[in-house]
Amino acid sequence: MTDPSKMRLRFAPSPTGSLHIGGARTALFNWLLVRGAGATLVLRIEDTDRDRSTPENVDQILDALKWLELDWDEGPIFQSDNAVRHQEVLVSLLDAGLAYRSLATADDVRAYKDQHGSERGFRGQDDGEGAVRLRVPEGASIVDDAIRGETRFEHVHLDDPVIARADGSVLYNFAVAVDDHDAGITHVVRGDDHLSNTPKQLLVFAAMGATAPIYAHLPLLHGPDGKKLSKRHGAASVQELRDDGYLPEAIRNYIALLGWGTDDDETLLSTDELKRRFGLDHVSKSPAIFDEKKLRWMNGRYLRELTLEDLTARLELFTGRTGLAGAVEISREKIQTLADFWPLVGFVFDGPAEDQAAWDKTIGAPGAVEILAEVRSALAAVAEFDVDTVQSALRAIVEERGVKPNAVFQPLRVAMAGTTISPGIFETAVLLGREETLSRVDRALERGEPQSSAS
Ligand code: GLU
Repeated sequence: MTDPSKMRLRFAPSPTGSLHIGGARTALFNWLLVRGAGATLVLRIEDTDRDRSTPENVDQILDALKWLELDWDEGPIFQSDNAVRHQEVLVSLLDAGLAYRSLATADDVRAYKDQHGSERGFRGQDDGEGAVRLRVPEGASIVDDAIRGETRFEHVHLDDPVIARADGSVLYNFAVAVDDHDAGITHVVRGDDHLSNTPKQLLVFAAMGATAPIYAHLPLLHGPDGKKLSKRHGAASVQELRDDGYLPEAIRNYIALLGWGTDDDETLLSTDELKRRFGLDHVSKSPAIFDEKKLRWMNGRYLRELTLEDLTARLELFTGRTGLAGAVEISREKIQTLADFWPLVGFVFDGPAEDQAAWDKTIGAPGAVEILAEVRSALAAVAEFDVDTVQSALRAIVEERGVKPNAVFQPLRVAMAGTTISPGIFETAVLLGREETLSRVDRALERGEPQSSAS
């Protein structure tokens, strides 16, 4: 195709579940190709499996696409709305003798193969009733896959495919081909799992006398253990990734790299850059590895790029709390996902956490209550209560006692946070303010008293 802006691609999810990473990657690759070329993306909901397709799943998929900020230009078209058109094509193929009604059962197909050899594709007779089968002509179909190159399918090995059941309801491969044709789709970019459907869809195109689109089958996704990606490997759906605190722009960046890469192996690529650089020529044939650890790392990088206002707004939305800016400022270097935030600084708002092991190790250690009492006096005495003054006061105690800094810092940390995990100790104290810091230290001292006298 000479003018890339004339390309028409589609994303065609089946609403039989939520949008998973594989589906999101397919959507993203289509979207990047389209947006990079100024072309058109059609969204088609393949809801012909009436038992498994639900409106809730449709909503979840649309919601996931919107959250990922992957928009489309036409649709959503519902495959089930095209039923009349499917029948029209079916009847025209029957009328033209390109398809026939057949009563052949699976046993009949087996018997045929016993007689003609297992390599021989089944050819039935026109029974005038029963399921509709497409007549496979002599010759071969060539799938010229934009990623995998040419694969030749000799027709002699293909069974005459069933394209509609006896009740007239059409089968998946038929509906897909008719819909792709009607929507003027020029490129079909989809998961590898559909490769085996392609010859059947090509046969439908040929029977309609239509030119088939260009196909590109994306490599499978594996987990870090090399096994096909599944729930075991962590968050599997886009909704779960959102709940786990990932940013849509980080997910776009990370999943763009699942099977695609640049010559210089760059990893951090903004969506604009991806749009500019993405192409099927650099999509690999071998399976890509989804590793949530790498996504976490990348998400952390994206979090740190956000302005404080933006990150605060996202965290307030994520946690449903307000007034978080100060806590965000002191914790942003330590979090990789939005979900990491509350466990790290929730104590500022909700009071110290209850972590007995942390207590035992710190305030419960011999001499710690005495140190904490000294910390209290020092913090009560500083003129201004800011990061510098709090820091100097605490460091003076470290010096004077000749102890390791943690012997002074950790009891204070646990007094404030209840655990040994918190943002920086000085920043935390300043955020809490003198009064609250002292009152938390007092509570710790009260609680620590009997244990220290016992030890
Ligand atoms: N509906 C299919 C799926 O969700 C995709 C079909 C296609 O892209 O051709 O797996």
